Amino acid sequence: MTNDTPYDFIAIGLGPFNLGLACLAEPLDGVRSLFLEKKNQFAWHSGMLLEGTTLQNPFLADMVSMADPTNPLSYLNYCKQQGRLYTYYIRENWYLTRQEFDRYCKWAAAQLKNVRYQHNVQEIWHDPKRACYVVAGACGPHNTAFQLLTKKLVIGIGGVPYIPACFTKAEGAVEAVHTSNYLSNKANLQRCKNITVIGSGQSGAEVYQDLLLESERHRYTLNWVTRASRFFQMENAKLTLELITPDYGNYFYGLKPEVKHKVLDDQRSIYNGINQSLIERIYETLDERSHREAPATRQMTNLALKHCEYVSGSGQWALTFEHTQLGHHYIHFTDGLVFATGYRYQLPSFIEGIRERIRWDSAGRYDPSKSWAVDHQNREIYVQNVGLQSHGLTNPDLGLACYRNSRLLAELTGQDPYPCEPHTAFQDFAPAADSGFELLDGQGTFS
Ligand SMILES: Cc1cc2nc3c(=O)[nH]c(=O)nc-3n(C[C@H](O)[C@H](O)[C@H](O)COP(=O)(O)OP(=O)(O)OC[C@H]3O[C@@H](n4cnc5c(N)ncnc54)[C@H](O)[C@@H]3O)c2cc1C
Repeated sequence: MTNDTPYDFIAIGLGPFNLGLACLAEPLDGVRSLFLEKKNQFAWHSGMLLEGTTLQNPFLADMVSMADPTNPLSYLNYCKQQGRLYTYYIRENWYLTRQEFDRYCKWAAAQLKNVRYQHNVQEIWHDPKRACYVVAGACGPHNTAFQLLTKKLVIGIGGVPYIPACFTKAEGAVEAVHTSNYLSNKANLQRCKNITVIGSGQSGAEVYQDLLLESERHRYTLNWVTRASRFFQMENAKLTLELITPDYGNYFYGLKPEVKHKVLDDQRSIYNGINQSLIERIYETLDERSHREAPATRQMTNLALKHCEYVSGSGQWALTFEHTQLGHHYIHFTDGLVFATGYRYQLPSFIEGIRERIRWDSAGRYDPSKSWAVDHQNREIYVQNVGLQSHGLTNPDLGLACYRNSRLLAELTGQDPYPCEPHTAFQDFAPAADSGFELLDGQGTFS
């Protein structure tokens, strides 16, 4: 095999989704895969590896188990290899801490031979003569140019931190940070007299609780502000969790786009809310500190950020909010500011060279097939974790990573090395042919 022999597929990015794909691909005989990551090692949201925070999925949502429980890169084998299987068994720790998940992923990544770090993909183009793609970029400590050939591509580059458009960076301004950089900025934030956290998803709640616990020691006041109408809890009732199954994903994919949009809006509390245990811990902390002379803290709902400006004279941020129900406007001055405003997908610049080969929807986003292919032939370019609008809430969930990766491998290899169970939910999302519920004609009439 020469350097000119194209890989069967090259995957770009090594977050948990592509790491799972790498773990499942490596044991497959005759499959030549390569994973390119721009960082110098695997690292999972390192700015948010807060003490005690946990995954929102059970430990079985590791890199391999839901596709192949016998794979040696399972979490349980990680415990065994670390000599910690009994500790884990006795601890009965269903939800791993995020630090532990990161350690496990690093361990799994270190076993793989099909990964290259410090490889920043900058350009991709199609070479019709060789009937393959050329993946190019810079690698290593000196940004040396590289070019690699591949028949197929998997793009798994995650999202980028989202900060509301009304925010502009200010020279010499005191702390304004996104949660993605929270840990490295925490000490600076805690020197502020007051801190405002904006956003009420899981990350916002974790940062609020972390700052709240230390507010008495550092004597800052703390506000937690959201435009949502409540600090809502992530739903985890069993029959609701059946919506995070392959069965539901398949059903959702077949819905009309306008229906999908409404359904997703209705499902926000399944994929966007705060863990029940964290809400309980916040409440307990609030109650405990209310008996002491603790610095003030407030939780405020219905406030949408409209304007955010640095007032250099006072060294504070002036935040203007609109109350979403009363219509009133408010201004608030704060020293420290944390944006817990999530992530957005940003089209990478390397897409430009293959733009013509990709199918786009009317909003300029990828338009993935049911098997996550985005090229016109549905057999060359695949995407990970960018199909919320097409594939629904199953798209960003780590619990379905193994499923998607097993389907991707079926597409990428033309075999089905990790077949999925035929049924994954008890409930019917639409009546099946044998359900006794017969389909009527378009008018709903019975003749
Ligand atoms: C704090 C936090 C906690 C979360 N917890 C959960 C949870 O408990 N359960 C759950 O289901 N979901 C959770 N999520 C959501 C989701 O699972 C994670 O965001 C997950 O990391 C997404 O994985 P990914 O592989 O798509 O992308 P990422 O983890 O973002 O990884 C993408 C990788 O691609 C690399 N990359 C980007 N561009 C290039 C390039 N040009 N060349 C080479 N490499 C590149 C990046 O360096 C990065 O390493 C959480 C998200 C956050 C932010």
